[in-house]
Amino acid sequence: MTTNPPLASLPAVAAAAAPEGLSTCALQQLDSAHYLHPFTDHAALRERGARVIVRGDGVYLWDSEGNKIIDGMAGLWCVNAGYGRTSIADAVHAQMSTLPFYNSFFNTTNVPAVQLAALLAAVSPPQFQHVFYTSSGSEANDTIVRMVRRYWQLAGRPEREVIISRRNAYHGSTMAGASLGGMAGMHAQGSLPIPGIVHIGQPHYAEGGRGMSEAEFGLEAAGWLEAKILEVGPDKVAAFIGEPVQGAGGVIIPPSTYWPEIQRICDKYDILLVSDEVICGFGRLGTWFGCELMGFRPDLIAFAKGVTSGYVPLGGVLVGGRVAHTLIDKGGDFNHGFTYSGHPSACAAALENIRILQTELLVERVALETGPHLKACFAALVAHPLVGHAETCGLAGGLNLVRRKGASVHDCEAFASTHAVGMLCRKHMFDNGVIMRAVGDRMIVAPPLSMTVAQIDEMVERIGYCLDLTLAEVQ
Ligand code: PLP
Repeated sequence: MTTNPPLASLPAVAAAAAPEGLSTCALQQLDSAHYLHPFTDHAALRERGARVIVRGDGVYLWDSEGNKIIDGMAGLWCVNAGYGRTSIADAVHAQMSTLPFYNSFFNTTNVPAVQLAALLAAVSPPQFQHVFYTSSGSEANDTIVRMVRRYWQLAGRPEREVIISRRNAYHGSTMAGASLGGMAGMHAQGSLPIPGIVHIGQPHYAEGGRGMSEAEFGLEAAGWLEAKILEVGPDKVAAFIGEPVQGAGGVIIPPSTYWPEIQRICDKYDILLVSDEVICGFGRLGTWFGCELMGFRPDLIAFAKGVTSGYVPLGGVLVGGRVAHTLIDKGGDFNHGFTYSGHPSACAAALENIRILQTELLVERVALETGPHLKACFAALVAHPLVGHAETCGLAGGLNLVRRKGASVHDCEAFASTHAVGMLCRKHMFDNGVIMRAVGDRMIVAPPLSMTVAQIDEMVERIGYCLDLTLAEVQ
């Protein structure tokens, strides 16, 4: 028989017992020794040491060295209401004190999950009266793959299994999420995509629209969907999925002609239309959901992130009438679900978060005040020698760093080694108190929706300074 060693002889336990007293250096060493981070080169991280973020308030973060940083990425596109919302913490505390968890299997439910389902039906487009809860965007998209295929079985068309997505899309990191996504680097590491998922090009005007107006290119890019449907066979296609604005791909804003034409094609071939609103949902583009701005009517919406402003994990699928009625009326058991589907404490956080978005008119402010201000600021940054072009939509934006500017987006000369300049710029930003993300040499922002006009000015001033520092090194 073996005996357990005394607790005190376990170094990790001892360290975990006193995290408050740890220096930045000690935290970095423990981090490097034990913590595998998402999407991270760990050998490089070991050299640098992770930056330890310890506190957030409003649109600001503080690291363990006391540096104050303006968060241009809302955590990871999610802290829509901003940091330091004690009312969300209070709502979660109250719920945890009453009923921290109960499942929604076996004919049970809980109060916050029901209240949130009704509230989501109220804030989303009218076809959505039902929700299926998950804990993340990846799980939401996995659920969508299963739900779409189940729908077509019930509709008597089980051969409709193929889902069409887009290159450079991001739909999560689970097997189905990464397969739906169009990131070559993710596919390469896991024999992906799984069968039944195919991709078309992205509606990226700067990349593919040379010689065309934006409107013409939008129609051309939507036409790739019709070509793929005909190639696969219209009888085999179950659904098309896309982000209204591609976030992780680099804030790729499609021409205004794109989504209405996608809608027309989906209608023509009777294909389900899925909007991945994990980033665009809950106000990012100045509407509650991105499909409302882009002018299409999805059958399913994936959401996560902004539903709780990231305070606790929650995601889900808004299920439109067409799919919901088939599942409910013809379906019997849908053999799918997660332990934490409808987690009461997570739903309590979402209820309070949505109340904040509503009472502070944060979505309306993005549409009328902060979004237009960011657009004007980014347009002004195009005067900088390093910025070839800039685009924004609501409170999401991107700046392309180029070696030589041109008369149009298609005439700019890119840097020879993409990534290096973007990474350099991102480092200057972080070191100078502002967070932007680099996607290749495109610098992107998606700040909290609570960011004020004055704070946008402060962020853009710091961005300009860091562009100068970057320029000085690449000239
Ligand atoms: N879909 C989109 C559009 C996303 O941007 C993300 C995450 O960034 C996901 C899905 C995956 O969400 P999660 O990381 O919560 O699994």
